[in-house]
Amino acid sequence: MAQFKTFDARLVRSISLSEFTKHLELEVNGVTHFGFVPGQWLSVKATTPEGEEMTRAYSIASPPSENGHFAFCLNRVDDGFMSNYLCNLREGDQIKFQGPFGNFILHPPPRDTIFIATGTGIAPFRSMLHWLLAENERHQDRQFWLLFGARTEQDLYYRKEFAQLATRHSNFHFLPTLSRAPEEWQGLRGYVQEHVPEIVGYRTDMHAYICGLDKMVKANRELLKGLGWDRTAIRYERYD
Ligand SMILES: Cc1cc2nc3c(=O)[nH]c(=O)nc-3n(C[C@H](O)[C@H](O)[C@H](O)COP(=O)(O)OP(=O)(O)OC[C@H]3O[C@@H](n4cnc5c(N)ncnc54)[C@H](O)[C@@H]3O)c2cc1C
Repeated sequence: MAQFKTFDARLVRSISLSEFTKHLELEVNGVTHFGFVPGQWLSVKATTPEGEEMTRAYSIASPPSENGHFAFCLNRVDDGFMSNYLCNLREGDQIKFQGPFGNFILHPPPRDTIFIATGTGIAPFRSMLHWLLAENERHQDRQFWLLFGARTEQDLYYRKEFAQLATRHSNFHFLPTLSRAPEEWQGLRGYVQEHVPEIVGYRTDMHAYICGLDKMVKANRELLKGLGWDRTAIRYERYD
């Protein structure tokens, strides 16, 4: 079996995105550059108080950087060990991980693309979209839609950041949708899959990237296949 290198990283910053969700910024020890492709994930390792070795995957939520820094976006899962272990870390604490891994990455040639996320499924898209929009030649002549579903406004992680990207790039469309919207909410309402048809119309020449819990991923894959999409144009990452 292949042996993967284990890295140590130090928690540089821990920011609460909502009551149960954190944005963690980490720095890989002893490297000046930590290479990965937007959309990839890391395998975090830790030992429970009972001495059990645990390993869980977390998408990298930041674009590649030159200084060995990367971010996670994760939420506490009820009775889950790793998510609570990571959310409880304090600045300066160390973690162990392997990676990067995964093939949930942008596939060439670039096409008009719909990104569909709920909850912390936004993590790989934050990495991909910052990378894509950073250089003209990566995104020009293409349209991108980010359809991001949450229950309430508080759960729309990185909302300001995506809204600013949309202001700066006329080809990037940020579409948050709330399943429990208050009356005064001006944006989209309901589940992400309810808005996919109005974005893609009758087109089948686009790419779709879907990330989040299995039920949502399945609903959107079925929908796109029903609209005549080729399965190879639909890429997805399931968190459960
Ligand atoms: C490729 C990949 C990338 C991932 N990236 C992220 C990420 O960027 N951010 C993130 O928050 N999670 C991510 N996950 C999920 C993560 O790996 C863990 O499964 C999650 O944090 C729960 O781990 P735990 O040890 O706390 O709980 P566990 O004891 O492993 O899980 C408890 C229960 O919660 C369910 N569950 C798993 N994930 C979730 C979730 N997100 N919300 C609700 N229930 C869940 C499991 O099916 C299980 O039944 C990713 C998973 C995969 C496979």
